[in-house]
Amino acid sequence: MSDGSAEQVLADVREEVVGCTRCELHRSANNGVPGEGNPDARIVIIGEAPGWHEDKQGKPFVGNSGKFLTELLETAGLKRDEVFITNVVKHRPPGNRDPLPDEIMACSVYLERQIAAIDPDVIVTLGRFSMAKYFPGEKISKIHGEAKEVGGRFVVPMYHPAAALHNGALRSTIEEDFQKLPRLLAERDKQRSIDREKTAQASQGTLF
Ligand code: SF4
Repeated sequence: MSDGSAEQVLADVREEVVGCTRCELHRSANNGVPGEGNPDARIVIIGEAPGWHEDKQGKPFVGNSGKFLTELLETAGLKRDEVFITNVVKHRPPGNRDPLPDEIMACSVYLERQIAAIDPDVIVTLGRFSMAKYFPGEKISKIHGEAKEVGGRFVVPMYHPAAALHNGALRSTIEEDFQKLPRLLAERDKQRSIDREKTAQASQGTLF
């Protein structure tokens, strides 16, 4: 029975994804790829869809773009096991085609539950499809690296590592964008301590 902890919710989602038939993608895929990482992560990273390697292993971002993602995190002073990594759809679209709107919609219940359970300070969207969840109609070339406050947390759209891996200009852009993450975490810390101070002052005010 679920105890409602983040760990338990993530385990429940994992199990449900493995047996999910909510859209057609499960038919052609080898494995569900629910996502993995720290249940207490301060950063959740959302990509597009599992690729060939991910489908084989049932893990997110394990091919070359996965290695690049790990490097990008390291350049920002973060370890891969500190964050949680997932995708907008949890089964691989055939031939690596783009996920369709009804597939993204069908799969969003899992993503929503993962985000609600982890309650991160920062969400990083990688590529167009996860960006469109928070910034519909925007262009990644225009808004990449710009953090916006959405529902009490920062959401930062970034290029997909697969697009940036072999493109020199995009590569330095995505590296620069990842290096903004520590500052965003520090901003959340600062805001928390201001909020704590205000609450303490307010409760002292009620005592006298
Ligand atoms: S992609 Fe998502 S909604 Fe579709 S079958 Fe897989 S887990 Fe279910």
